[in-house]
Amino acid sequence: MAAPAPAPRQNLLDLDRAALERFCLERGHKPFRARQLLQWIHGRGEADFAAMTDLSKAFRQELEALAQVRVPKVLADNIAPDGTRKWLFALEGGNAVETVFIPETGRGTLCVSSQVGCAVDCAFCATGAQGFNRNLTTGEIVAQLWWATRCLQQQGTAVTNVVFMGMGEPLLNLPNVLPALRLMVDDLGYGLSKRRVTVSTSGIVPAMDRLRDGADVALAVSLHAAEDALRDELVPINRKYPLAALMAACRRYVAATERRMHITFEYVLLGGVNDRPADARALVRLLQDVPAKVNLIPFNPFPGARFVRPAPAQVADFQRQLQSRGLLTTTRRTRGDEIDAACGQLAGQVMARRRRAEARA
Ligand code: SF4
Repeated sequence: MAAPAPAPRQNLLDLDRAALERFCLERGHKPFRARQLLQWIHGRGEADFAAMTDLSKAFRQELEALAQVRVPKVLADNIAPDGTRKWLFALEGGNAVETVFIPETGRGTLCVSSQVGCAVDCAFCATGAQGFNRNLTTGEIVAQLWWATRCLQQQGTAVTNVVFMGMGEPLLNLPNVLPALRLMVDDLGYGLSKRRVTVSTSGIVPAMDRLRDGADVALAVSLHAAEDALRDELVPINRKYPLAALMAACRRYVAATERRMHITFEYVLLGGVNDRPADARALVRLLQDVPAKVNLIPFNPFPGARFVRPAPAQVADFQRQLQSRGLLTTTRRTRGDEIDAACGQLAGQVMARRRRAEARA
């Protein structure tokens, strides 16, 4: 009879501080060992237990047998002339996801993916067009930051902000996203400020409340329309959680966060669809009683898309209309066009296991 297969080694990137302490306690080690591991793995970017010299030799040997720091293989690493950098990570099961680093003066933002594909199927989104395959594990989410941090250190730069705006709807993968968020803001992990970690959602209302209770990070809402009829078309999850419910959840989020943070409302401008003066007026009405910042994103066309990017003058005019009514508004500069890296354009390679309508249901 064949010998039973050895148990798979625990990927320590899957474990936040509390889980790592449990891992150590269950094996007879003190909780401070977990804190040492956090510092080595996340603080210093070390994956080799042999190099963790302040751990006893016996503990390091035990770790070698039981655990690993497993980072997905990098299939591609491209840098655009403006410094925007994109990695393509190979995942188990033959899929791949993308991660993008966007350097700006005084900050560096990493855009991470949380799912392979996306079931929400927003009408203008390259990711949604590919269908849905599976959730990323906590380790696969954290590995994107782990890897980027190590690569960027060699360039003399750093990740100061993380946004969950890559592939996937993070609030449909909350059990894996929450531990990843906790590692990102943990002083012994990546030590990022809660204000500098942003989760972007299309409006999964019940999960917005759970996010607030579990992580208290900054929130962005992919809005894209200020009236239900149009939003039903552009962001189909609106049929389940319409604008009144979404805005009520936003108000609860702001009221409960420690510092009454602004919510960022992402608004992809689609030529002739949601960029008219009436749309600007509706947007101002909708956001009047929420501390809001609007981020306008001129649509970035992809093959097969049925929308067009508005002319720059139209974008500027839409921004002026919002600002003249007192709404804090910025326009996202398109970065890394050469490597196809604007957020919402992250594609990767998805073998869709579920059709989108089925997954939504
Ligand atoms: S915009 Fe976001 S929520 Fe909508 S389909 Fe794309 S990845 Fe999913």
